[in-house]
Amino acid sequence: MVVAEDIRCSHCGAPVEFTPGEIVATCKYCGFTTVVETGQVFNFEHSLLLNRYDETQIEESIRDWMRSGFLKPSNLAKKARITEKSLVYLPFWVVSIEAKSIYKGIFERITPSIVKEGTIEKEYNWLVLAREATEFPTREYDVPLEGKMPYDFRRIEGFAQILNSEIEKDEATELAKQQIEAHHRFLLQQDVDKIVEMKTDFNVKQAVYLHAPIWFIKYDYRGESYQLLIDGATGTAIKGDIPQKGFGIL
Ligand SMILES: [Zn+2]
Repeated sequence: MVVAEDIRCSHCGAPVEFTPGEIVATCKYCGFTTVVETGQVFNFEHSLLLNRYDETQIEESIRDWMRSGFLKPSNLAKKARITEKSLVYLPFWVVSIEAKSIYKGIFERITPSIVKEGTIEKEYNWLVLAREATEFPTREYDVPLEGKMPYDFRRIEGFAQILNSEIEKDEATELAKQQIEAHHRFLLQQDVDKIVEMKTDFNVKQAVYLHAPIWFIKYDYRGESYQLLIDGATGTAIKGDIPQKGFGIL
């Protein structure tokens, strides 16, 4: 953590704390967000999803997840030992965007093969994680956007960690476009076997900076350590490691 003496919160005047690589930083004293490089006020919409669980309550969500689904060992909820429960507010850019791909491809599943043309037109709230190195399964996180409210530092728990953005709005928008284009190519595979050409046009409506509460859980089961991520707004599991079912009785 670096405290830049020359960068002060534009609202309360406290030194702004950040780690190298972070480009926007939120003041821990007043919740104001500042652009690190310039010291200017960050003037995009900054939103927050509220966490609804404390360390005891989240345990129930963990056990619920352990009990659910036939892939898990039947005694998992009973035998697993939870070794870590950390609440982290992860920064995201939510890019509201319209995307229209016009394509031409070859359908080879019949003989003779035929040329197909078509359009994929969709609207997204595309989520881009605003960290370079953090491992997070963004595509598997169904972010509950309907619950977002303006960022309010008073609603952040004292024990929680808040990560700042390392990615600028424009960069996030570019990433969203690339990822959507790749997604459309993926969708196209259902319709054609070979893509001859595809052109995607985008209409970016807005990009919102969002902090979302994620519980990082670690648990031990039969001597191995596993990870689980839980959405703190809804209590649902985002992704979790599942121990292999034991065969036999040993
Ligand atoms: Zn401040």
